[in-house]
Amino acid sequence: MKTRLFSGARLPLVLIVGSLLIGCKDDPKHTVPIKPKPAVAVPDFDADSAYQYVQNQVDFGPRVPNTPEHSACAEWLESKLIEFGADVIVQEAKVRAYDGTQLDMKNIIGQFDPENKRRILLFAHWDTRPWADKDNDESRQRQPILGANDAGSGVGVLLEVARQIGKDSPDHGIDIIFFDSEDYGTPEFSSSSGDAEDWCLGSQFWCANPHKDGYRAKFGILLDMVGSKTASFPKEGTSMYFADWIVNKVWNAAKKTGHSSLFNDETSGATTDDHLFVNREAGIPSACIVEYHISPLTMGLPSPGYGSFHHTHNDNMDIIDKESLRAVGETLMHVIYNE
Ligand SMILES: [Zn+2]
Repeated sequence: MKTRLFSGARLPLVLIVGSLLIGCKDDPKHTVPIKPKPAVAVPDFDADSAYQYVQNQVDFGPRVPNTPEHSACAEWLESKLIEFGADVIVQEAKVRAYDGTQLDMKNIIGQFDPENKRRILLFAHWDTRPWADKDNDESRQRQPILGANDAGSGVGVLLEVARQIGKDSPDHGIDIIFFDSEDYGTPEFSSSSGDAEDWCLGSQFWCANPHKDGYRAKFGILLDMVGSKTASFPKEGTSMYFADWIVNKVWNAAKKTGHSSLFNDETSGATTDDHLFVNREAGIPSACIVEYHISPLTMGLPSPGYGSFHHTHNDNMDIIDKESLRAVGETLMHVIYNE
C-alpha cells in the first residue's frame, strides 16, 4: 500500500444528506422507556494463537503470486477457515500487474452464518510484496520480503477471530476475505510512479465480481500492518473520508477495551489500500486499521510513514508483538459482538 493524497479528479461525487431527526419528546404518548442494554459476552481473543498464525504464514516464506509458496499458503488459509466452520469460496482469476505480468490471483472468502442478511465484512491482504524496495541495502531491494506484519499480522488476527466466531456466533453474519495481490504496486526503483489502481488487484477484482450477486454488508473493517512493536493507529484519511462513523465505532471500541494508547485520535493522510476500492467501487463503508506515524522523528523515519519495517527485509517475526495483535483482536471482537 502507499500513501496518496486524493486528487480532486479521483474523488467520487458524494451526496451528503443531512439526517432528519424526527423527535416527539413533548408527546407523552410516544415516550418509550429506555431499557439498559444487557452486557454482551464477548469471547476472549487469544493473542498466542494469532501470533502462531502469523508465524505459520511466514514459515511458507514470501507469499508472492505465481510462486509455489503462495499456492501452498492459499491452501492452508482455505483449510483453516473450513476448520473454523466457514463456508469457503476461493475466487481465482488472472489479473494484470502494473508491468503487464499476469498474476494468478486467489481471494479467499470465509462466510459465517451465510443466510444471515445482516453482515459485517472483515478483510486483510494475504499476499506479500515481491520486493524490499524501501530496504536500505540496495543489493537486496529486488528480493521479496517475508511480510510478517505487512500481510501476516492482519490475516493472523482475522484467523483467530474466525476461530472464535466458529465457536460462538455473533448476531451478525461475518465474512472474512483475504484479498490477494494487494502489494504488487509499482516499486520505488521503477522509473514510473504508478497509479493507485496498480495496487489492490484482488480487491478491485472482487468489487467488480463479488462472491455473491448483490453482496452487501453493513460495514467493513480492514486490517493491515497491525502487529508490530511500533504499532500506532491514527484515524486513517481514506476511512475518514468515506466512513468516519465506522472509524469512530472502532476507536470507541478500542477505548472500551483499554487500547486507546495504540488507537489515537490524530487523522493521517489518505492511504491507498483495499478499503479504498471496497468503499469507492463496492459502496461498503469501510475503515482501515493500519500502522502509521504522523510524527516521523519519533520513529527515525525521514518522512511520515508506515514504520521503518515497511517494504524492507526487517518485516519479519522479530518485529511482531503479541500485545499489538491482542489490542487489535480485542477491539475487533468488541465491535463484532456489540453490533
Ligand atoms: Zn505493503
